[in-house]
Amino acid sequence: MQKILVVEDEKKLARYLQLELMHEGYEIRLAHDGRAALTAFGEWPCDLILLDLMLPELSGIEVCRRIRQKSAVPIIMLTAKDDVSDKVMGLDMGADDYMTKPFAIEELLARIRVALKRQGEEGGHAGGERTLTDGPLALDRDSREVNYDGSPIQLTKKEFDLLEYLMLNRNIAISRNELLDKVWGYSYAGDTNVVDVYIRYLRCKLDDPFHVKLIHTVRGVGYLFRLEEGGDAE
Ligand code: CA
Repeated sequence: MQKILVVEDEKKLARYLQLELMHEGYEIRLAHDGRAALTAFGEWPCDLILLDLMLPELSGIEVCRRIRQKSAVPIIMLTAKDDVSDKVMGLDMGADDYMTKPFAIEELLARIRVALKRQGEEGGHAGGERTLTDGPLALDRDSREVNYDGSPIQLTKKEFDLLEYLMLNRNIAISRNELLDKVWGYSYAGDTNVVDVYIRYLRCKLDDPFHVKLIHTVRGVGYLFRLEEGGDAE
């Protein structure tokens, strides 16, 4: 039975989630504040965490950051605020996905299934290349390290996933919706702002310092990874 830790200080909502998720066959444990969440996670290894962002004791963002230091467990944030910067901060701390309250339980269940499935797939790369290289850039899919001319580049989990997907599809223009689907696991045409935000992060770390453009904007389509000195697809 897959285990889900539900971190939510609104007791009624926590109880509702518990009942719905148990009905779906998951084993559930509840935590009502940030500290209790860390304690629960320490003593009860789970397969996924539903994490409210606005929590007493310790914020959801901080809980996410601390859990990410030691575990790759999928984390879906629950946020009351439809605030992009809040979501981006959570995703930056390593959360896998978010749901804005109020949400339909069916959608949350679908996101949980996607996150658990993705987790099951990670680790084995189905016989694909273990290291992706393009000119000075090398991405190791097992150790999840990225090097530029032999120097390590620090990327967050999502930045890494995005770069990996772009490099796997080098020289192919990829739409924002496809990136949302493949990198974030959203199977619908959603808010693609987050893609643009992460492309900007990657460019700051990879393109700007080295003056070699790797990530190109394809107007009306999305983005394209190509090593191209001097040229520009924009
Ligand atoms: Ca809350």
